[in-house]
Amino acid sequence: MKTFQEFGLDPKVMQAITDMGFEESTPIQELAIPIALSGRDLIGQAQTGTGKTAAFAIPLIERIDPASEKVLALIMTPTRELAIQVSEEIEKLARFKGVRTLPIYGGQEIGRQIRALRRYPQVIIGTPGRLIDHIQRKTIRLDDVQIVVLDEADEMLDMGFLEDIQSILSLVPEQRQTMLFSATMPTNIQRLAQQFLHEPQHVSVIPKQVSAPLITQAYIEVQERNKFEAICRLLDMESPELAIVFGRTKRRVDELAEALQKRGYAADGLHGDLSQNMRDTVMRKFRDGSIDVLVATDVAARGLDVSGVTHVVNFDLPQDPESYVHRIGRTGRAGKEGTAWTFVTPREMDHLHFIEKVTRHRIPRRPLPTIAEAVEGKQKMLAERLLDLVDNEEHNEFRATAIQLLEQYDSVALLSSAMKLLAGGQKNEVTVELTPEEPLRARRRRPDVRHSSGRRMGSSGDRRYGGSSSGDYRREHRTGGSSISHHATDRRYVTQTRRDGYTNER
Ligand code: ADP
Ligand code: MG
Repeated sequence: MKTFQEFGLDPKVMQAITDMGFEESTPIQELAIPIALSGRDLIGQAQTGTGKTAAFAIPLIERIDPASEKVLALIMTPTRELAIQVSEEIEKLARFKGVRTLPIYGGQEIGRQIRALRRYPQVIIGTPGRLIDHIQRKTIRLDDVQIVVLDEADEMLDMGFLEDIQSILSLVPEQRQTMLFSATMPTNIQRLAQQFLHEPQHVSVIPKQVSAPLITQAYIEVQERNKFEAICRLLDMESPELAIVFGRTKRRVDELAEALQKRGYAADGLHGDLSQNMRDTVMRKFRDGSIDVLVATDVAARGLDVSGVTHVVNFDLPQDPESYVHRIGRTGRAGKEGTAWTFVTPREMDHLHFIEKVTRHRIPRRPLPTIAEAVEGKQKMLAERLLDLVDNEEHNEFRATAIQLLEQYDSVALLSSAMKLLAGGQKNEVTVELTPEEPLRARRRRPDVRHSSGRRMGSSGDRRYGGSSSGDYRREHRTGGSSISHHATDRRYVTQTRRDGYTNER
């Protein structure tokens, strides 16, 4: 692996890289940075979490003139969260060079963005929808753009942004550098690249095995109605530092997060129907550890980079193998170990085998933890917390009462009652009910209606199980999977495509 020294970067950029703690370049960075520095067009393909942001951000900052008052670089990302995340990373890398950046995304008051634009950022990171708004209002001009980056391009197309991207790119001067980054290279991405990139260099880092070896994977066969009990036992047994629990629908996420809270877990939910403020709050709480269980849909969690996630639980089996890989990739990052558990109902076993086949990884079966194991795990964790306190903390404020109580009561009875209180008291007895999800069934492929007409089809929320029983809760789903579509041709999932009621993240 190369050190960053070898790229011959501006010392100010080098300083920022060092400050961020990056020592060596990642494989995609090693391949992409020299090409990007040369100004040539570039297609970069690598999995999530491989450092694609810095791969384009470092050369971009290197090539941007901090004295300019024009928009010189435009980066498009699929979601607000990613716009913010990319913008934060660029800001850190650009700190010493003094390049100004601004994230632009829907959900934030446009007036505020217009005011921020008066600080003349040279780099704008935005979601296509909101960018179009600004272009139409003439609050963003693209006449001087020299560099364009399409980040997570597959995801942007899945979200129906193709037309927006096309109209934005048609407004950028032809004389420019265009870089496209994507985890997968389905044909629609290749077409887009053909249309807008000029003799691009293609670099890709495709792992031999789809699944990271640092992630211990297992599935648990469990009836739909027993899933909640199962996850409580798992959480008790393992007491994860940070866990992401994936649910299939927004309703699922809401119900499960609430149910876990009722049982005393520090949990919260994240999905696309929450306001931007709510989502930011939930993410902040998860990052700073004030909640340790994040219940999320695929779409909400995709691409988010949270370090220290020790466990992923697929409460519901994901639709396609690619989602499975993306989901479990939330853990086992930065060389740390992670655990990924997947709940499979008996009727979904076929679907699990299909995922195993495509990912070329056999997922071992684990029995459901017994109540005894759950209790043991939880008590072990409580004892550890207690002993930590004994070692580290001042507890004078409780001493007098403790002595008094010990004079009157049995010490074992006292300590076990205190532990019970610490464990959340009577909360185990709270009953909760979740609306059952239909099992996923693998079936023969049906004509693919996804791309047949209209824009804004595709990923999050445009499909649901037929009929009105699903209420207003739209399915969050990414079409993804195109790169593995040759594997997937023999099976399709029983879903119906609806185009109503779905608006994109603008
Ligand atoms: P991707 O876009 O490929 O999903 P990111 O760009 O979000 O991945 O990077 C994932 C994480 O790795 C980020 O926290 C980023 O700061 C970190 N990272 C990137 N490059 C390096 C590097 N060379 N050394 C250490 N950490 C890195
Ligand atoms: Mg990325």
